[in-house]
Amino acid sequence: MQLLKERILKDGIVKPGNVLKVDSFLNHQMDIPLINEIGKEFKRIYGDTPITKILTIEASGIGIACIAAQYFNVPVVFAKKAQSINLDGEMYCTKVESFTHKKVYDVILSKKFLHADDHVLIIDDFLANGCALMGLIEIVKSSGATLEGAGIVIEKGFQRGGDTLREQGIRVESLAIIDSMTDESLTFRE
Ligand code: 5GP
Repeated sequence: MQLLKERILKDGIVKPGNVLKVDSFLNHQMDIPLINEIGKEFKRIYGDTPITKILTIEASGIGIACIAAQYFNVPVVFAKKAQSINLDGEMYCTKVESFTHKKVYDVILSKKFLHADDHVLIIDDFLANGCALMGLIEIVKSSGATLEGAGIVIEKGFQRGGDTLREQGIRVESLAIIDSMTDESLTFRE
């Protein structure tokens, strides 16, 4: 997505540890007209699939998922990072290792909001090693719902998550895939 790539080049800041900061437009301050175009693009890509629910993970995915959901006309459900798990069988539970915080979270989703007849599109802001996405996929599998695919705003293609999941046959569509990044230069996969 050209508009997004131009914005990453203009306002993205590469931090030590392979972290790209895009907090001026995507995941702290949010540029709504840009995110609106992102939502439309996910609809263009996944418009041929019978999506009934968009799934994301708190916090950064929520705003993007909500804007995209207006084009799909379906609810958004987000997995919550939990302090302690209440194992009463009412929740899908999984563990996710955070790339940015280097911490393992328990992640939960109420069974009320995801069912075997759902067709799920997962949306998230970043894809790096794929832990967040794998956790969400595990939740979809536990529910028996159909995973139609994942829509990612920025994939760091030099980390293994995206390619590993594609090799497993999962549809992963990223609007910008970064091939390499340093302080001085950032290149995209064509
Ligand atoms: P993964 O689980 O694929 O390793 O990492 C995905 C999650 O980590 C995303 O939900 C995102 O919040 C965060 N993340 C990973 N890499 C970056 C990055 O370069 N910049 C920012 N801002 N967040 C990242």
